[in-house]
Order: sequence, then structure tokens, then C-alpha cells
Amino acid sequence: MRLLLIEDDADLGRGLRRDLLSAGFAVDWAMTGTEGAFLGVDQPYDAIILDLGLPDKPGLEVLHDWRAAQMSTPVLILTARDAWHERVDGLKAGADDYLGKPFHVEELIARLQALVRRAAGQTSPQLSVGGLVLDEDRQCVRLPTGAQADLTGTEFRLLRYFMRNPDKVLSKDRLTGHVYDQYAEHGSNLIEVYVRRLREKIGRERLRTQRGQGYVFPSDPGAER
Ligand code: CA
Repeated sequence: MRLLLIEDDADLGRGLRRDLLSAGFAVDWAMTGTEGAFLGVDQPYDAIILDLGLPDKPGLEVLHDWRAAQMSTPVLILTARDAWHERVDGLKAGADDYLGKPFHVEELIARLQALVRRAAGQTSPQLSVGGLVLDEDRQCVRLPTGAQADLTGTEFRLLRYFMRNPDKVLSKDRLTGHVYDQYAEHGSNLIEVYVRRLREKIGRERLRTQRGQGYVFPSDPGAER
């Protein structure tokens, strides 16, 4: 999952980015409203964390413009403590959730996971498809045999994206857009490398190559293609 973090406070932004990375998200960080507003419509984020108090372009205005342009990515706003009117204005402008500063990063992560889950129409907090169960807290996957496979950060993000989009042909470009942040070095052959590693861990039949188009994660790997 790839997040956009818009936060002008350098210390807070740096710490948040680090914590979100270690929680298994790819994170782009914008320090101004103008840059964030652009990135939000330009890149395929799964969720956005938007600080409302930005020096150049207020967060509320950024949000307003996005929603006016039919941009539907889930947005969690960060508001000043006790500023109940900010929360109301933010929700009315199209925010999906909010957190008042200061907050615990664990709460932010749990809220983000819930937002992305809801946006994907998933009701259970546990991601389970085709007999595989993804443990998002420990970043590992449980196989139908009961065995457990540990995943690296990239493998985890890639498998989570596949499991959230079963039975769809996912192009390498699309996978890259959701798995890496803007600073990562990524070529399309890197996706091939990680698909190969994932196959070794979860089984070849789990990730089918659709020649010239991309990959499919079947919800029923035993079924005829
Ligand atoms: Ca701020």
C-alpha cells in the first residue's frame, strides 16, 4: 500500500514516515500543500494523511479541490487538538477520518488500515483470500498447510496488493505504483524479481503470468484458468 503524507512539520513528518515504512507502507512525503495537492491527483495512492495546518495552501482547500475534481482516495486529516470545528469542516469537505494532534502512531496505523479496508469493501480485519491469511501486524502470511512464511517489506506490500485485488490482471506499472514510493529505484523487472520470490514462498500457482499484460492472483488457484 502506498501512502501520501502531507505534513509541514519536519520532525513529525520524518518520524511518521519512518514509522509508516516499518509498518509496511510505501510513503511519499510532501511538506507543502501545493506539492501534496499535485501528488494526490498525480499518483495512485491507497490513502492520504493530510495535515490541515499548512503554510502555503491550507489542507482544507487541498481537500476541497480534490473532491471537486472527483478524486476519491481515502483521506485522513490531522487536526489541532481540541479544534472540533476543524474536524467538522474537514469531514464536510470530504475527509474520511481524522486524528487530533498529538496522537499515537499505532492509532494512525490502525485507522489507515481500516480506511483502506473499507475502501476495498472488505469487512473482516483479517485479509484472507484463497486459503492464504495475511498477518498485517507481523508482515507474514499463513499458508493453507498451517505453515507461516515471513515476508520482506516489498514482498509484503506486493502480496497485500495482490490479495486486495484477486482475479484481476495487474500490470507491472500498476503494481509498481502501489508498492514503491517516489524515491525508490524501480524498474519493471524488479516486480518480476519479487513475483519470483513470492512464488517460492506461497506457491507458483498463486501468481499467474498473463503474458504481455501482467499478473493475476487467483482467488481459487485450483480452478481452470
Ligand atoms: Ca502543520
